Amino acid sequence: MTPALNPTIKAMLAALGSDRTFVRGAGTRLYDHAGREYLDCWAQYGVLALGHNPPAVVAAVRDALTAGAPAFLQPYRAPHAEALAEELVRRAPPGLARCVFTNSGAETVEAAIKLTRVATGRTRVLSTEGAYHGSTYAAMAASGQPDYRDGFGPLPAGFDSVPYGDADALDARLARDGAEIAAFIVEPIQGRRGAHAPPPGYLARARAACTRHGVALVADEIQTGLGRTGTLFACEREAVAPDVLLVAKALGGGLFPLGACLASERLWTDDFALRHLSTFANNNLACLAGIVTLRELDALLPGLPDKAGRLNGTLVELAARHPATVRAVRAHGLLAAIELHPPPPGTGATLAALQQRGLYASAVAAAIAEREAVLVLPAVGEANILRFIPPLIMETSEIDRGVGAIDAVLARLERGDSALPG
Ligand code: PLP
Repeated sequence: MTPALNPTIKAMLAALGSDRTFVRGAGTRLYDHAGREYLDCWAQYGVLALGHNPPAVVAAVRDALTAGAPAFLQPYRAPHAEALAEELVRRAPPGLARCVFTNSGAETVEAAIKLTRVATGRTRVLSTEGAYHGSTYAAMAASGQPDYRDGFGPLPAGFDSVPYGDADALDARLARDGAEIAAFIVEPIQGRRGAHAPPPGYLARARAACTRHGVALVADEIQTGLGRTGTLFACEREAVAPDVLLVAKALGGGLFPLGACLASERLWTDDFALRHLSTFANNNLACLAGIVTLRELDALLPGLPDKAGRLNGTLVELAARHPATVRAVRAHGLLAAIELHPPPPGTGATLAALQQRGLYASAVAAAIAEREAVLVLPAVGEANILRFIPPLIMETSEIDRGVGAIDAVLARLERGDSALPG
């Protein structure tokens, strides 16, 4: 286990000032117990595409509750679940005709693995190095970030990975083992690792290779989907239609845990449909929130290129202003990462110790929160990455403020001021 995932991490982060309690959220803002307002540039890991308590979703759910609409209807038909499935299929890449709802991203990944194994009669699942697909057992086995797996074994059998973004390696592996592989699961952009995109053409080549070998292409769009990268689904950028498409995070409107595994007719079997069960699936109110969320996203999508351009531009400027501190910036739509150099030798024992414990980016994020009232997300296990994943409703002026806050703290660090709180 790496030091970054040591159980004492919570206490350490508390000491760094990251243990504040938030008591109110509205749009892009959170308010702590002392009434201080923060700009939320992490959107709860991307869940809050529409911000905190989005009025349209809140109103629809409130009206439904006032009217006495039931939330749980299993095993009967949940009207909003049926309607949301249709709305998703209508917006998804062609060929996706079926939908199973879930209560988290990881559960959505599990559904995809079960669905493709039972449909193909094959057992092996191929994923990519550096991937993150969730923390349940099969999702963990498909994830290529050892930080999240080590110590929890044994993991389920049948999982293997290829280098991310390397279409030749994928071709070669499928040529060798394709007849045994049920699914190739891949993120169009590796979000959790720090917004790493594959080379152009990778997804299209993955599509072709999977088709050649009868392997189901599973696009994990739990992070990249629902507008995060500028289009409703990141697959659209390469006009790729996967056999299975996974979404979660923003789908529940920031109010409900809700995921969806969309699948082609070819992969859908009664065997899967009748035996894949969850007491909490098809929550009628959560699905109502999902329907409203999709409509709100439809309205937001045309404005996203401007916001994405602004974020990318300001991050490129940030990197140019801080060459000694910023190693790289990456932005794909509103999914961005700022990779920091390790603190240079001689900048003090505290920073060196934080770096060694994998907490340097956490400390920088804590300083940004404390000094600038802006929330950015340190990538756990990746000591030097700050993630910037704002609500999609964020205005360009707020994006400027968020990046400006990072700029201010990095400048203090470079001047040798004690920028860290506590
Ligand atoms: N897949 C991807 C690409 C993710 O980024 C995540 C979470 O960040 C998951 C799956 C797991 O989702 P959850 O945390 O809802 O289980």
